[in-house]
Amino acid sequence: MSGLNAPFFTDDAVATPFWWDEARPNDASADEIPSSTEVAIIGGGFTGLNAALVLARAGKQVTVYDADAPGWGASSRNGGFLGPGWAFFDTAMRYGEDMARRVVEESFQSLQHVKDVVAKAKIDCDLKVVGYFKGAMTPRIYDSLGRNIERIGKVMPCDAHMVPRSEQHREVGSDLYHGGVAMPGYCGIHPAKYVKGLAEAAQRLGVAVFGNARVTDLQQRAGGFAFKVRGRDVTARQVLIATNGYSGGLLPYLRRRIIPVGSGLVTTEKLPPELMKKLMPKQQMLAGSQRVVTYYRPSPDGTRIILGGRVLDMSGTSKGNTANATYLRGLLLKIFPELGAYRISHYWHGQLGFTFDHFPHVDVVDGMFFAGGYNGTGVARASWLGSRIANQMLGNDQGKTVYSELSFESRPYFNGKPWFLPLAVWYYGMLDKWDQR
Ligand SMILES: Cc1cc2nc3c(=O)[nH]c(=O)nc-3n(C[C@H](O)[C@H](O)[C@H](O)COP(=O)(O)OP(=O)(O)OC[C@H]3O[C@@H](n4cnc5c(N)ncnc54)[C@H](O)[C@@H]3O)c2cc1C
Repeated sequence: MSGLNAPFFTDDAVATPFWWDEARPNDASADEIPSSTEVAIIGGGFTGLNAALVLARAGKQVTVYDADAPGWGASSRNGGFLGPGWAFFDTAMRYGEDMARRVVEESFQSLQHVKDVVAKAKIDCDLKVVGYFKGAMTPRIYDSLGRNIERIGKVMPCDAHMVPRSEQHREVGSDLYHGGVAMPGYCGIHPAKYVKGLAEAAQRLGVAVFGNARVTDLQQRAGGFAFKVRGRDVTARQVLIATNGYSGGLLPYLRRRIIPVGSGLVTTEKLPPELMKKLMPKQQMLAGSQRVVTYYRPSPDGTRIILGGRVLDMSGTSKGNTANATYLRGLLLKIFPELGAYRISHYWHGQLGFTFDHFPHVDVVDGMFFAGGYNGTGVARASWLGSRIANQMLGNDQGKTVYSELSFESRPYFNGKPWFLPLAVWYYGMLDKWDQR
């Protein structure tokens, strides 16, 4: 039973992403690592592979290195939520209305970018416009979501609309919420099929994609960069760091700025079609308004429910995985108590890359390019910023992004270990409880 140990697991439950059943990341090339490349991309997720496509199409000789398999990181583990980022408006308002508008506009461009990339490379990844509903945990939160939509609508066109509690069963078969906000333009995607399709498209364009290829000893030297892969010395003229929540100790600069945050998901066993219809009448993407995030969706074939939330135990042990899955199942049963009789077939987790200002950053560090810090919403943004930074590497105007304009800050007492996370999750959890008192 693969280290999962509780009565609510199916007999064949696994501690790997549900997505991997159909598209498991695998080591792309067993060839020997060449000793030089024109462009080295470290990290084979959405960021790295989107960048690789742009650079290869521009005629560059590109090599992608992933420490595990291409797509093994967050890119094949996420919930597959892909939408216009109205939620970023609020965060950006602290820099003024113009910035907020530009952030949301880029978010729309990011969504369109994924649609275009998928269409151009003919990637079969269940990308579909399905809509999204965010349930308000209290009447007060419902009002505040409404005010937010109004505020955005004054600055730019906004197709989000409020759904009162009396009509919420059209959106979700749950009584947990006090109405909510609906966003019809939202999409769902099968993330592992998407990232696998990106790797294959890059290879078709001549990009060398290596798995089991951890880059270490990265340093700048005359005319370029030097590093080690599988014990071999390699040189490159340009380097892109696309390691986001898995950046670890690659560069001290990033270790002090990217906060690795755990996020986990569970998938139910197949549910009866009439129950799925009742719980998820629109087969759309769903979430609650809590600060400690809970999001859920149907599997692309509409037979199961996949739910995600913050998890703290990233040890990967049987005990840690079981504790995390127990917590996530508890969230699921609060939304849909009728699922108590159904079992969990998959649990997995991955690492998000958070930043102190809650914005992604596109930066140049010691001559090396970096894009990351998607704060948990990276399906569209990692794809988009991967392509933007590739254009910056080419010296193109298309490289422009609002995320290059912000200063990338650290904080004292942070050196890569998020010691404050349990405290933050506890604190926000208490605020959620306070809201619902
Ligand atoms: C559980 C979970 C749920 C999420 N849900 C959503 C969602 O529904 N919607 C959404 O928009 N976003 C979501 N996200 C966020 C989104 O998945 C990420 O922002 C996005 O995938 C980041 O892509 P990336 O290419 O930058 O990084 P990753 O996909 O994490 O890739 C980084 C890669 O770098 C490699 N690497 C690290 N160090 C080295 C090294 N030294 N040498 C070589 N390779 C190295 C790793 O092996 C890894 O494969 C979720 C994330 C997680 C973890």
